[in-house]
Amino acid sequence: MAKPTGFLEYPRETPKRRPVDQRVHDWLEVYEEFPIEKLQTQAARCMDCGIPFCHQGCPLGNIIPDWNDLVYRNRWRDAIERLHATNNFPEFTGRLCPAPCEAACVLGINADPVTIKQVELEIIEYAWQAGWVRPQPASHRTGKTVAIIGSGPAGLACAQQLARAGHEVTVFERDDRIGGLLRYGIPDFKMEKRFLDRRLAQMEAEGVVFRPGVNVGKDIDARELLEEFDALCLAGGATQPRDLQVPGRELEGVYFAMQYLPMQNRRNAGDEIPDEEFISAKDKRVIILGGGDTGADCLGTALRQGARQVLQYEILPRPPATRPPEQPWPLYPNIYRVSSAHEEGGERDYCIMTTRLSGENGRLTTLHAVRVEFVNEDGRQVMREIPGSEFSEPVDLLLLAMGFLGPEKGGLLEQLGVQLTERGNVWADENKMTSVPGVFTAGDMTRGQSLIVWAIAEGRAAARGIDQYLMGETLLPIN
Ligand SMILES: Cc1cc2nc3c(=O)[nH]c(=O)nc-3n(C[C@H](O)[C@H](O)[C@H](O)COP(=O)(O)OP(=O)(O)OC[C@H]3O[C@@H](n4cnc5c(N)ncnc54)[C@H](O)[C@@H]3O)c2cc1C
Ligand code: SF4
Repeated sequence: MAKPTGFLEYPRETPKRRPVDQRVHDWLEVYEEFPIEKLQTQAARCMDCGIPFCHQGCPLGNIIPDWNDLVYRNRWRDAIERLHATNNFPEFTGRLCPAPCEAACVLGINADPVTIKQVELEIIEYAWQAGWVRPQPASHRTGKTVAIIGSGPAGLACAQQLARAGHEVTVFERDDRIGGLLRYGIPDFKMEKRFLDRRLAQMEAEGVVFRPGVNVGKDIDARELLEEFDALCLAGGATQPRDLQVPGRELEGVYFAMQYLPMQNRRNAGDEIPDEEFISAKDKRVIILGGGDTGADCLGTALRQGARQVLQYEILPRPPATRPPEQPWPLYPNIYRVSSAHEEGGERDYCIMTTRLSGENGRLTTLHAVRVEFVNEDGRQVMREIPGSEFSEPVDLLLLAMGFLGPEKGGLLEQLGVQLTERGNVWADENKMTSVPGVFTAGDMTRGQSLIVWAIAEGRAAARGIDQYLMGETLLPIN
């Protein structure tokens, strides 16, 4: 245990965000550095619980109390080994995870939880700076080949585990760069892409072959891959966006979040995109439909592009400020959160349903909406329009961030004939194998839209399933 009285002595402290008027003029990450001494004080708050609920809260089963103790004792090298034992990419989760581990931390029952996520981030950054994160090529080769389709966190975790187990791994990605949503969904102000590139270089040195610009199911028939490789892993994500089905949807000026966000990431990466093709919020009145994280990413991007006004509308009610009784500890609660983007500007409004869009000369000018309420009818929450609450709002750019409906159909999945679940995701057994022998799946493609931490956990589980399938036994961990 780090310091037996640490949780009594020290309050929780997290890194500060850079001043708003500074950070909205750049695309760099929003957080300031967190001094090591402060971090060690935070690690000292861990109680090393007999039953550490933080483990159970983390989909990766991260061994959190161990690293808190090691950080407190200045044993950074041991700390990174313990962290890497369960998580291939702590630099992604340390920056981007909503930290279900912290929601489950025992200290959180009647105090502020341990800053687990920050400790994780500092361990991995310390390790990179110390030169301890090096390629770990396999000591022997199995001669088996695996194709992974999709290069998001699920595909990457699966690839790294399999390459280290000695298999020849090729990752196919339809985009021009590797990384999935880490590359083109998540804005740079949440994670600068140099952190992704650094990890990809390590993986290449471990023997992973990346093949960007290949859309499996279109450029190559998936059945050919099945013949060419000993196993496949489908990690194509849940990229089909939920659409807005109202009159006027076809007007110019209405885009999905994932049409909008990647363009800015591409420009930041140095790509030339002509102004007439670039979707920009500059000087525009912007409305974002969807009150979740994707909506917040659109907000932060629009503000940096110089939007005149940004409104974010959500159809559901505003979440409560504190943990509601029906979501008790250690569950991850749905509460009102203020992300860095919300701190920077824009206005959020709730219980708003868009009814139609109108425009002039084919261009969007106005969003028409009505306020709704949710009432209990026979134990079910039912949405009702509030009579007389109709209103209109001028808008130049409407961004749809209303969630995703599962993996895209019409190519890869049909060619392989994999069975789908009722929700339209790819079905998998407990070893992550689909209904087609030798074809495995991981991440959002099988879970539906989820989190990076789950994608990594799934990728690791699929790698274990594949190794077992190819070799008849496996030493790869369960998670
Ligand atoms: C805007 C946005 C922001 C987010 N922010 C966060 C966050 O802050 N924290 C968090 O935990 N989660 C976040 N998420 C969710 C998280 O990014 C996903 O849960 C995670 O990336 C899923 O990983 P994946 O590997 O399953 O799929 P993805 O990351 O979606 O990667 C799948 C890849 O497969 C490729 N692909 C698909 N089909 C084919 C094919 N036929 N051939 C070749 N390639 C193919 C796609 O191009 C894509 O690159 C966010 C999601 C979005 C949309
Ligand atoms: S639940 Fe919280 S206090 Fe307990 S071991 Fe985990 S991080 Fe430490």
